[in-house]
Amino acid sequence: MGDLDPEDWDDFRARAHDVLDQAIDHLKAADQGPVWEPVPEAIQAKFAGPLPENSSDVVDGMLELLPHGVGNIHPRFFGWVHGAGSPEGLYADMITSAMNVNSGGRNHASAVVELQVIDWMLEMVGFSKDGSGILVSGTSLATVIALKVARDQALATAQSNGSKTAKLVGYCSAQTHSCIRRAFDLLGLGSDHLRVIECDEAFQISVPALERQIIKDKNDGFVPFLVVGTAGAVNMGAFDDLSALASIACQNSCWYHIDAAFGIGAKLSNTHQHLTKGMDQANSIAFDFHKWFQVNYDAGIVLFQDEAAHRTSFMDRPDYLRTAERGLAGGAFWGVDYGPELSREFRALKVWAHLKGHGLRKLGKSIDRNIELAGYLAKKIAKEDRLEALAPVPLNINCFRYAKGRDLNRLNEELVIRLQEDGVVVPSTTLLDGQLAIRVNITNHRTQQTDMDILIAEVLRIGDELAQANF
Ligand SMILES: *Cc1c(COP(=O)(O)O)cnc(C)c1O
Repeated sequence: MGDLDPEDWDDFRARAHDVLDQAIDHLKAADQGPVWEPVPEAIQAKFAGPLPENSSDVVDGMLELLPHGVGNIHPRFFGWVHGAGSPEGLYADMITSAMNVNSGGRNHASAVVELQVIDWMLEMVGFSKDGSGILVSGTSLATVIALKVARDQALATAQSNGSKTAKLVGYCSAQTHSCIRRAFDLLGLGSDHLRVIECDEAFQISVPALERQIIKDKNDGFVPFLVVGTAGAVNMGAFDDLSALASIACQNSCWYHIDAAFGIGAKLSNTHQHLTKGMDQANSIAFDFHKWFQVNYDAGIVLFQDEAAHRTSFMDRPDYLRTAERGLAGGAFWGVDYGPELSREFRALKVWAHLKGHGLRKLGKSIDRNIELAGYLAKKIAKEDRLEALAPVPLNINCFRYAKGRDLNRLNEELVIRLQEDGVVVPSTTLLDGQLAIRVNITNHRTQQTDMDILIAEVLRIGDELAQANF
């Protein structure tokens, strides 16, 4: 067949089966070996070669990379907010590779599956069936899309009111993820036009402070256009009062956007679903499948209540991309009408397979177990004199530190680096009110209670060593 097809399909088949076997062995042993280790120099050297002129075998070289990922498939990976993924992702990856479709538009299987996923998610968050959405790489890009729609709507309103130079300002909390600021920058809104509102002691946005700032901005000639609610703050998991923010957004004619990147998991929880109250009143929501939902990287979504508003912001197709009445150029759903990307991978398949294959009930149980483990860890920390909690634990994230030593920020920073280098447990760090915290995020369906015990034992062991070394 083609120039780039295998010379012998039977050889290719045997090789592909071998790759699959090794990938499965790797997943089956996800709890073995170090959580993380640096890429060995010998392997790095293989990726520092000259630009290849001729063909060579690459399969063995790729297989050598298997043990050198971030570590998030391991049950004792607790850094940042990473999902652990699930083996079934391999199925969808193989099928999408074999199909090699472009999900930017036209009439084919990918649109059918993507629409199903979007409809499911509209229902899950409580939006109307008439809403819309699009799958993207993650919440960062989903946020850019949501905020562009919010901005375009606000500018259209300002223009129809005769204002040519509306100075738009938006609001989020001090715990909001940096992707909101980035979106402000990318969209030309200016990150100084994002007002960062202080939080209360529960790390939720201070509603009185937000109201005061809106009044001040109006008096100063600014146009408030956006309120961002955080459903699961990245530092420690706080949920803003989503219903209160809905009222404030409504009273001030602002677009209401919710960042639920991992916090969307609470929607499936039997014990913590109440946190998501008010989510259905947002104009847009962005969240990830690759975090607490455990879909393999990368997959996120943005959802809108108002399909027309969403589409208006991206509906600018040129002649060579026109929709036809019938044929391959037909089809009602073209991804390119709902986001900035034209060429897009068939992400919907792995999301569909994951949701359908496991079902929301099973995913919810796993999420509840993670929340329970965070509670278990919080109790262990409270009982131990050498440890100090640095934030409440409303959900699945513990922020704490080893509390005996000279310079606690330096000690805990070093402690986390050593934990990572030892490869037994991998948390990350964050700063809370200037205090460096060991941050343990549990969005991992493989984690067991014994993993929490190992974590505490290792923190105490290394903490004691560092305290003795006069850190
Ligand atoms: C991870 C995260 C983001 C960014 O999402 P990506 O998928 O990494 O682009 C935004 N907000 C919160 C709260 C997050 O946890």
